Amino acid sequence: MNIIDLRSDTVTRPTEAMRAAMAAAEVGDDVYGDDPTVLRLQHHLAELAGKEAGLFLPSGTQSNLTALMAHCGRGDEALVGAKAHAYWYEGGGMAVLGSIQPQPVAQHADGTLDLALAEKLVKPDDVHHGVTKLLCLENTWFGRVMPEAYPDQARAFCDRHGLGLHLDGARLFNAAVQQKRPLADLTAAFDSVSLCLSKGLGAPVGSVLVGSKDLIKRAHRWRKVLGGGMRQAGVLAAAGLHALAHHVDRLAEDHHHAELLAEGLGRLPGMTVDTVATNMVFVRPAPAEPGRLQRFMRERGILIGESNPLRLVLHLDIQRGDIEPVIAAFAAFQQSQQG
Ligand SMILES: *Cc1c(COP(=O)(O)O)cnc(C)c1O
Repeated sequence: MNIIDLRSDTVTRPTEAMRAAMAAAEVGDDVYGDDPTVLRLQHHLAELAGKEAGLFLPSGTQSNLTALMAHCGRGDEALVGAKAHAYWYEGGGMAVLGSIQPQPVAQHADGTLDLALAEKLVKPDDVHHGVTKLLCLENTWFGRVMPEAYPDQARAFCDRHGLGLHLDGARLFNAAVQQKRPLADLTAAFDSVSLCLSKGLGAPVGSVLVGSKDLIKRAHRWRKVLGGGMRQAGVLAAAGLHALAHHVDRLAEDHHHAELLAEGLGRLPGMTVDTVATNMVFVRPAPAEPGRLQRFMRERGILIGESNPLRLVLHLDIQRGDIEPVIAAFAAFQQSQQG
């Protein structure tokens, strides 16, 4: 059976061409700084993002944590979205491993933090408080692209308060493709940016953190401390380089598929489409007993998550021809709920 996996864009498998690039990669021991393919990937992404240096890491979680630890020391504080990945989905790593106090800030529907509210949460210079050091943003956020003017507003806010500015750009290439802007436009306001290769770009593993030479030097040390120093990592970096060469422009296809899926699902009685943004569609199907929808779909070769609203993610391994069968399966489910 053809499996249509809509749970996440992390489920993509390396293509034949990507596997060939991995197999052919020139490698060395990257802890000694000897892996030419890793160095090439770091340099290439730093250049694309308009930053001085890059650092290859095994995951986006480690990339964010490494960045946070490069910005903040023990007892420092980071302002972060109350539903941001770095706060909500990373096991509290900044507190657990970084001795950094997160200060969550309520977010608007587009994911931006309310800067007037954030202003009130910057701590005064007083022994009672942590030392506020960093503002942490995310683009895309639940598929939504950050409004174009916001990074400069955040930068001005950070400059007023002497804060660093970090971007969790796990899916920043989706934002760049959606807005038809060069990546460097979307990173310009930030001191550090974490980019995932293993989401829509289709690499099996890896993230790259970019920033100034000085920041990346500190991050390099924390990566080793966190166990992220890898040896012949060029095999993995080659997958990233292949993804950057072949899988960036095609993200527009995923966005188009998301629109087609949202259109089709929106026509079904009893089904609400909450949002369609970049490669994600959020829907509310007819209420059902827990797990019934997932089982119904699995029997038809369609894998979905259990969130509510339900998140459907389009990616490299979903073809145009997969969209109609998914809409048809949801239609059958809605009908079975009414019957
Ligand atoms: C996936 C993701 C991460 C973490 O990446 P992993 O490689 O899964 O650790 C961080 N931030 C956002 C927004 C993500 O979607």
